[in-house]
Amino acid sequence: MTRVSILSTTEYNPALLDSAVEQHIRLLGLDRLLRPGLRVTLKPNLLLRRSPEEATTTHPELVAAVVRALKRRGVTRITIADSPGGPYLSSLLAGIYKASGMAAVTEAEGITCNLEVGWQEVPAQNARQVSSFNLIDPVADADLVINLCKLKTHCMTGLSGAVKNLFGCVPGLQKPEFHYRFKNPEEFCGMLVDLCETVRPAVTFVDAVVAMEGDGPSGGSPRPVGLTLCAENPYALDVALCRLIGMPEERALTVKAARTRGLAPALSELELVGEPERLAPVEGFRMPAVKSVDFNTRLPRFIRRPADWFAGRFLTPRPAIRTAGCIGCGKCAESCPAHTIAVSGGKAHIDYTNCIRCYCCHEMCPVKAIDIRRSGLFYH
Ligand code: SF4
Ligand code: SF4
Repeated sequence: MTRVSILSTTEYNPALLDSAVEQHIRLLGLDRLLRPGLRVTLKPNLLLRRSPEEATTTHPELVAAVVRALKRRGVTRITIADSPGGPYLSSLLAGIYKASGMAAVTEAEGITCNLEVGWQEVPAQNARQVSSFNLIDPVADADLVINLCKLKTHCMTGLSGAVKNLFGCVPGLQKPEFHYRFKNPEEFCGMLVDLCETVRPAVTFVDAVVAMEGDGPSGGSPRPVGLTLCAENPYALDVALCRLIGMPEERALTVKAARTRGLAPALSELELVGEPERLAPVEGFRMPAVKSVDFNTRLPRFIRRPADWFAGRFLTPRPAIRTAGCIGCGKCAESCPAHTIAVSGGKAHIDYTNCIRCYCCHEMCPVKAIDIRRSGLFYH
């Protein structure tokens, strides 16, 4: 059985979070992993420059509570690190740490936010699709990585939870390269499983106090769920998160990829501790506009390629720029792996000929000016 702890955590109150983190550690017996002198890297989800209230990023109060729990155990070499969307530059990192509240955590707790932009090539472990990954230095050099993810929907992968959060271990604009290399979302999520096996976070905490529903990971809406979760096994956590938001597991592509490799346990194989009764679907949790027509594997082999082209062009939801809201910042063009966005006249324009429907542009738009539009052929 794979143990997952789940606890009511109704607000971002420091005392409440301190108590929740201590209970998670006790329920999972995590003290055996922690000792003074360890170099610990905390990996929150800091996708882009957003305030904690927008529910795009891991809340700083959860990060602070984990830091205090580590310090109580004599662990003091703690670094907060992430490579958010966009270029991996110290100046951009500093802005994101400030907006997300991470800078305040480091100031209050006397630890550091990583501002160095080095990375190193690390051989992939237990991998099927990738032979090596370039990982940011604080992750590659850590004795222990603690994954601090946010529960969110994701227009491309279905779910953004424990496994997806680790994509931020890849430096800056090397991330869009992976989108281009693995254009098929299922293959992309297979790569994320390779990455998860390589990074091997020791523990994952999930911030589901306020989650994001709808067109996540950045264009959705905050949704209070009132929970924190924790496990050593990130795949088990993603299985639990699917149950929590009522998402079929085959729609959460990281779970699907991990399941085919025997890495994701079935829901019935989870040993839920804490408040197991809280792992019930949140009523009416809104799903993202991901591709929902997948009939290709049932077609005769000779028409799969044209059917793929047809599905990609006409059935898969596409990014659409709301011109009135666009401020012409160019962040969508910068993150587009297909280089198919141009900014002219102060507005962004997409040439759909080469668009691979990765939705990086939607993720990175700071003013939510890119919608995900469903095809008029199959949706109303
Ligand atoms: S236009 Fe958007 S969805 Fe299309 S390839 Fe570029 S980033 Fe991806
Ligand atoms: S669509 Fe968004 S990211 Fe792209 S240029 Fe406009 S405001 Fe910037």
